Amino acid sequence: MPIDFTLTSYQRRLQRIAREFANEILAPLVRAADDDPDPQRAFQSVKGAYVESYKLGFATGFIPKKYGGGGISNLDLQIVVEELTAVDPGFATILLVNGLALMPLVWFGSEKQKQAWLPRATSDPRGEYLAGWTVSEAAGAPGGTANFDGPAQYPAGIALTATHDRKNGEYVLNGRKYWPVNAGGWDLQGADVNVCIVRTEPKQGGSRGLSAIIVPRGTPGVSYERPIAKLGHRLCQNNSVVFADVRVAEENAFAIGDGDLVINKAFTWSGPVAAIAAVGVARSAYEYALGWAKKYTGGGDVPIINHQIVAYTLAEVAMKIEAGRAFAWKAAHYHDLHDANGHAVGPMAKVFCSEMLFSAVYQSMKVVGVNALDRTHPLERYLREAAVFPLYDAGNIGMQMRKICTVMAHADFDPRAIASCSATPFGKIAPPPADVQVVGRNLKRQA
Ligand SMILES: Cc1cc2nc3c(=O)[nH]c(=O)nc-3n(C[C@H](O)[C@H](O)[C@H](O)COP(=O)(O)OP(=O)(O)OC[C@H]3O[C@@H](n4cnc5c(N)ncnc54)[C@H](O)[C@@H]3O)c2cc1C
Repeated sequence: MPIDFTLTSYQRRLQRIAREFANEILAPLVRAADDDPDPQRAFQSVKGAYVESYKLGFATGFIPKKYGGGGISNLDLQIVVEELTAVDPGFATILLVNGLALMPLVWFGSEKQKQAWLPRATSDPRGEYLAGWTVSEAAGAPGGTANFDGPAQYPAGIALTATHDRKNGEYVLNGRKYWPVNAGGWDLQGADVNVCIVRTEPKQGGSRGLSAIIVPRGTPGVSYERPIAKLGHRLCQNNSVVFADVRVAEENAFAIGDGDLVINKAFTWSGPVAAIAAVGVARSAYEYALGWAKKYTGGGDVPIINHQIVAYTLAEVAMKIEAGRAFAWKAAHYHDLHDANGHAVGPMAKVFCSEMLFSAVYQSMKVVGVNALDRTHPLERYLREAAVFPLYDAGNIGMQMRKICTVMAHADFDPRAIASCSATPFGKIAPPPADVQVVGRNLKRQA
C-alpha cells in the first residue's frame, strides 16, 4: 500500500459526523460539567450526550462486527477521537474505557464468553451501556499499579484477590480498586460490567498470579464510594470500588495467570488512542491562540502575529501537532497490521504526544499572554486536561516507558522494525516458570 495521508470518503464522513456531534451536542455541556464541584453530577450531566454517541456507534465501534460492534479499524478510530477530544477529552475517555474493558475479552476471552457479553454491550436499546476497566489500585505501601507485574507477592501491585471456591464454582473477590473510569455507572450502583484484574495466586508475582474476571452490575458485595474529584478530565467518572466477599461465577474468569498480558495489551491498544486525544486538545489550544494572535494588537499597530517571536512560537506548536498526528496514525496503522501488538510503538506514540501536548498548551498560553489565565478563555482548562495525559492510561514514566524498553531490550528486537511495520517481540516478564527460558527480559516457552 502506498504511503498516503489523504482521508478516504468514509473517513471524511466519520470526521464530519464526529465533529458535528462534538460541536453541537457535547460542546454546550462542557463548561458547566467541568465547573461542577460534584464529580458524579458532572458525569451524569453528559449522559444524554453519551446516549447520542452510543447511537452513532462511538461507544462500541471498536468491537468486531461479529459481536454487533462497528468493527472500526484503529486508524479510523483516530479520526473520531481527534474530533471528540478537541472538544472534551474527559467525555471521550468514557467511550474509550469501554474499549479498554471489552477489547481484552475480544483478545483473551473464550468464544462462549464473547457471545455472552459482547452483544449485550453493542445492542443496548437505551444506549446507556457502560463497561469499567477495573485495574488500578490506590497509592500506599506496598500498593500502587505501576509494579503490577513485579515479582513481589500479595499485597504488592494488584491486591484485589480472587480466591477460587472450586466446590461452588465461584471466585470470591476481596479488596479495592481506585481510579477505574465508568466502574460506578450512571447511578453509582455499577457499570453494566466491570472487567477486573484480580490476583488469583497470592503467592505468585504479578507476571504469574493475575487474571481477569467479569463482574456484572448488581453482584452483591460490590460498593462504590464517591468518585474522585480531579484536576482535569472532569467529565469522566473515576471510581473507588470496594469488594467484600464478592462471589462471581468461575465461567466469568479469563486469561487465568495471564492478567499481566491483559493489562499490557489493553494499555498498548489505547496508546495511539491517547496519543491522538492529546493531538485533539493541542489542536484546540493552537487554534485558539492563532485566532487570538491574528486579532489582538495589545495596543500596538498590528495584530501580535506580526511579531516574529509570536509567529515563531505558534509555528513551533503547529509543527509539533503535525508530528504528533503522524505518529499517532502510524501507531494505529501498526496496530491494524499486528492485532494491537505494537508494545513499543503504541506506548511511544502515547508518551510522545502527551509530552508534546503539555508544551503546546503552555506555548499557546504564552502567545495569548496573561489573559490565558482568565477562565473566560479555554486555555486554563486545556492546561488542566494536558496535565492528565502523561499520568493516565498507564502513566508515561511507569508502565508505558517500561514496555518500550522491554521490547528494545529483547534479543530479537530489530531497531528498524517499527519503521518497516514488522512485528516486535513482547512476552511475559520475570519471574520465569520452570519450563521457560529467559531471552533478554522476556520469556519464550520451551518447545
Ligand atoms: C482520567 C483517568 C482515567 C483513568 N482510567 C482508568 C481506568 O479506566 N481503569 C484503571 O484501572 N485505571 C485508570 N486510571 C489510572 C491510570 O491508568 C494510571 O495511569 C495507572 O494507575 C498507573 O499509575 P501510575 O504509573 O502513577 O502508578 P503508581 O503505581 O501509582 O506509580 C506511582 C509512581 O511510581 C512510579 N513507578 C512505580 N513503579 C515503577 C516502575 N517499576 N518503573 C517505573 N516507574 C515506576 C510511576 O511511574 C509513578 O511515577 C485513570 C486515571 C485517570 C487520571
